[in-house]
Amino acid sequence: MDWTGRRVTVMGLGRFGGGAAAARWAARQGARVTLTDRTDADSLADAVAALADAPIEAVHLGGHNEDDFRRADVVIVNPAVRPNNPLLRLAQQSGAELATEMGLFLERCPAAVVGVTGSNGKSTTAAMIAAILQVDGRRTWLGGNIGRSLLDDLGQIRPDDWVVLELSSFQLCHLDARTPVPRVAVATNFTPNHLDWHSSVDDYRQAKQRLLLRQSPEGLVALGADLADDPAWTSAIRGRLLPPVDPAAVPPLRVPGEHNRANALLAATVAAGVGCAREAIGRALTCFAGLPGRLEVVAEPAGRFLINDTTATTPESAIAALAALDRPVWLLAGGSDKGVDLGPMAEAIAARTRGAAFFGVTGPRLFDAVARRKAGFPACVVSTMAEALAWCWQQSRPGDAVLLSPGCASHDQFANFEHRGRVFVELAGRLPPLAASHSPRV
Ligand code: ADP
Repeated sequence: MDWTGRRVTVMGLGRFGGGAAAARWAARQGARVTLTDRTDADSLADAVAALADAPIEAVHLGGHNEDDFRRADVVIVNPAVRPNNPLLRLAQQSGAELATEMGLFLERCPAAVVGVTGSNGKSTTAAMIAAILQVDGRRTWLGGNIGRSLLDDLGQIRPDDWVVLELSSFQLCHLDARTPVPRVAVATNFTPNHLDWHSSVDDYRQAKQRLLLRQSPEGLVALGADLADDPAWTSAIRGRLLPPVDPAAVPPLRVPGEHNRANALLAATVAAGVGCAREAIGRALTCFAGLPGRLEVVAEPAGRFLINDTTATTPESAIAALAALDRPVWLLAGGSDKGVDLGPMAEAIAARTRGAAFFGVTGPRLFDAVARRKAGFPACVVSTMAEALAWCWQQSRPGDAVLLSPGCASHDQFANFEHRGRVFVELAGRLPPLAASHSPRV
């Protein structure tokens, strides 16, 4: 397709830079690009400033103009926009094609692609796979929902390179039938999530399964242990299912927890399936130091371990964090409500923490759910994460962990989970003196 002079509307700048990358890419192809986002200009100032070098024709922030959709030849949709958005319908009725940053990339990427999806552990598994491919001597690119668009890199990606993409259900939902799917499809696990966005659990599962259903028989599939036993998943396989590697292929890891061993096992299965040497798998996994904001120790003041697990946006990931730590934990949890069951998380909090401070929209519900399970459990409801940290910090003793693993999304109080993590790290760097009244632990 010749993009010269075509009117392109980019809807949504996006958290991982996909909107900005798509706008820059389309402008470089000669398109007349309008960028629009319903967020206001102040909040997006940095993201817009970063586009100063790109010849974008118009930027409309703080809301969408119908005209930008009526007059567009192509609308590049941010994955967070629901496919049934009326502006998209308007654009289509007016003759526009819909596209996404991920679709544009997949249609043009010359290299073999590994696509990683699932409810939890996508980024970690994708990063582990990329690390192994690299140690095995392959030129490797890691991107997608993990925080980086690879659209700008298309010119450098060669046919014999490897690309590892983390794919969210939102990104998968928007891929249309002509978009080539990754040669290797990886699904980590599946639990109900994002029920505020998807119409049902089935809709969410179907979005994730697009990766499998659209593969040709030459495609390769790797499934996390729970999915490999689940007929709802195995029946969606169209390619060849890779046999899981022997757990002995996974060396001792630097990242804690059984969940990370499960991620590593899946990464090793993918790597072995595409021919990586066993020695490379062992070496890469041994060195894997974890990603920022995933059970990351960010400070060790007064013998306490301040741990940033802001990416725990689901109950399962908070539960995994509590299972992974073997020291007493004071937990900061809560955030926006994605319509999921908080019961199992409350169970884990009651069983595995010394105490907890709950904040954000779900704070009071989490507090009640834990109080119902454990009378006298040391806990409080506060409005902000800063207050939650102040409380946990004062309760803690040397050797304890003060853990931010919210189990909820961040959008009620923060721009996104990275923002929440940055605020936590800042607060952790300027903690007040501990109250003198601390009695030694009995
Ligand atoms: P995702 O990309 O799916 O959000 P990440 O690898 O970024 O997953 O991890 C996000 C959170 O989920 C972190 O708190 C991490 O400790 C936790 N986590 C990672 N892998 C798993 C897993 N297999 N099961 C449950 N939680 C996990």
